[in-house]
Amino acid sequence: MKRMDVLVVGAGPAGMALAAACGRLGLDVGLLDPNPERPWVATYGMWSPELPTDLPASVVAVRAAGRAIARTEHPLNWEYAVLDVAALRTHLADQLTGVTLYAGRAVGSPESGAVSLADGSTLRAAVVVDAAGRWRPLDPTSSHQVPAEQTAYGLILDQESVAPLVAAGDALFMDWRDDHGESGWPTFLYAVPLGAGQVLVEETSLARRPGLPLSTLRRRLHARLARHDIAPPKDARTERVSFRVDHPRHSGPGVLGFGAAAPLIHPATGFSLAASLRLAPQVAGSLAEHLPDHPDRALAAAQETVWPPAAKVIHRIRRIGLEALLRMPADEVPDFFEQFFALPDARRWAYLTARDDVSSTVAAMARLFRESNWRMRSHLVTPALMRPLLTND
Ligand SMILES: Cc1cc2nc3c(=O)[nH]c(=O)nc-3n(C[C@H](O)[C@H](O)[C@H](O)COP(=O)(O)OP(=O)(O)OC[C@H]3O[C@@H](n4cnc5c(N)ncnc54)[C@H](O)[C@@H]3O)c2cc1C
Repeated sequence: MKRMDVLVVGAGPAGMALAAACGRLGLDVGLLDPNPERPWVATYGMWSPELPTDLPASVVAVRAAGRAIARTEHPLNWEYAVLDVAALRTHLADQLTGVTLYAGRAVGSPESGAVSLADGSTLRAAVVVDAAGRWRPLDPTSSHQVPAEQTAYGLILDQESVAPLVAAGDALFMDWRDDHGESGWPTFLYAVPLGAGQVLVEETSLARRPGLPLSTLRRRLHARLARHDIAPPKDARTERVSFRVDHPRHSGPGVLGFGAAAPLIHPATGFSLAASLRLAPQVAGSLAEHLPDHPDRALAAAQETVWPPAAKVIHRIRRIGLEALLRMPADEVPDFFEQFFALPDARRWAYLTARDDVSSTVAAMARLFRESNWRMRSHLVTPALMRPLLTND
């Protein structure tokens, strides 16, 4: 059987961007997905300054001023870009010239360079990439831990009807006010314009182990809207979000984890798309430098591009931050975000986006710590000394 240079498993945004970037460099590439033509339905966004420079303007549906509300309101002082997801998919798919699409489901990698499919067949490549999102079929490590998940329930409504919550031209990154009227696990409203007069309003649980049920988020969203005299139409389109935010680093032997599977997900936001799109050409460059002659060196170079030492440190720091949030008493979570949003722009920006800048991330955390009271300080530091929380239930 023919052995290609690179086989990318998973045709989501990360897998498609990487396959396209490898194809552009002349590598022989395969892209495997149970349904490679599946349209993407999630609403994707990222901070405007993170938009890859080669992304055409037509892929951005709307740019909006970022705002956040914890105990008080804060301008973020940078823009949020909501993507036209169909246009993003078309843009990436158009670049797959020369990439061979395979319809099938990977079930494992029995040896380096081989991928077994559910139909019993095998595909071979010099380098295999697992970009299959939360499923990570090529990472055999089993974890008995209950996963921490971000969950959200959203409605797509007319701009005019949601004016009491979010002004036209604004993107509400987080609104921690308890307008849903419930005590218990803290949730916030995320509200972003989609273009054509539509706005996505989403009740979100940033992270919980296990994820907060969507039925709770749905109930809270309707209560929050009612509090602002917003009556959504019965047939309003919905969005349901659920994904894991605490995957350890991919450890499939002889396999590169990429995208959400790596995991490139920032546990404090759930974002991974910008990191995936920006890293894809760099990872492809590392692979192309050593292929086809030296697959082992190609894999090692690509691993190093995704996980330079600084990124490993930051992954660890972010995981400690996640555990701190999971353990924080519910009524103190808005206090924490009040302090976070009050940080200088550069500090907030570093914590939210810098995946390989340790000194800026540590400087942001040190500032947050300095400005916290002793109680909050203990919430921030103690989780670093403890095992991960077993469950929030
Ligand atoms: C509703 C929603 C909204 C989100 N919004 C944002 C956002 O605004 N910004 C942001 O940065 N992130 C967002 N995220 C989080 C994250 O960025 C997305 O989950 C994103 O889709 C991850 O891209 P990916 O390509 O890494 O993985 P995925 O998009 O999950 O793609 C994985 C692909 O692998 C395929 N696959 C799965 N199993 C197998 C298998 N065994 N064999 C072969 N293929 C397989 C799947 O069919 C899929 O096509 C959102 C997530 C959700 C669910």
